[in-house]
Amino acid sequence: MTNGVCVRPVLNRVFDTQTGTDRVVGVSCGSTLVSKCPPCAEANRRLRMQQCREGWHRDTEPEPPADMDDVQDEDESAADDTESTRRVRSTRRRQDAADLPKVEMDKRTVGATFTAPNGKTYRPSMFITLTLGSYGATHRLPRHVQGKGIVPCECGVVHGRTSPLLSTPVDPDTYNYRRAALDALHFPKLVDRLMQNLRRRAGYKAQYFAVVEPQKRLAPHLHAAVRGTVARDTVREVAKATYHQV
Ligand SMILES: [Zn+2]
Ligand SMILES: [Zn+2]
Repeated sequence: MTNGVCVRPVLNRVFDTQTGTDRVVGVSCGSTLVSKCPPCAEANRRLRMQQCREGWHRDTEPEPPADMDDVQDEDESAADDTESTRRVRSTRRRQDAADLPKVEMDKRTVGATFTAPNGKTYRPSMFITLTLGSYGATHRLPRHVQGKGIVPCECGVVHGRTSPLLSTPVDPDTYNYRRAALDALHFPKLVDRLMQNLRRRAGYKAQYFAVVEPQKRLAPHLHAAVRGTVARDTVREVAKATYHQV
């Protein structure tokens, strides 16, 4: 790492087969959040910048390396599976396939280009934020609403910034803890499927950078930068179908 040293390295015990001794080695935590580890976050930020410079704005597909012939895409490998595993898979597929219209799949990763009336061409990208639904009201800071002035929390109290109640359920009896827990448990799968479904629906191999962050109410929350653009309604439709599917 070029930018300082990780502030909370993960310790690993390494066994040296030559000397028969073991020692403890610190491995960088690799966090992308400055609040967790500034040096690692900075290193990650620089890596992303480099990756963006080299790949994000490409308008041609990179040539696959010569020795990558055997490497398959996850979507394609299913079709090449042996007969027996394919049968198993096809049953599973049907149960958890998202209810979305089929689009012919293109191998490209480059997004669509748009030409403005003045002849300039654009190839926009997009930002997606995925927020899970509400499980019930949580205590929050007073807000300023146009025409209404200061609006207090749902519970009627104007909470201070340091109130321990903030972001906790207003009514613990009706707050949907079960759903909150299930959503949090299945969130990684949800993100995987979301991108899979988005690619299927958009018809190209959209590439993305994403980060998952906890919200104050502790629900996970996804920010993704995606190469190319997909209609807003399509993204919404995919998100809904994916949530339903997972
Ligand atoms: Zn670190
Ligand atoms: Zn409150």
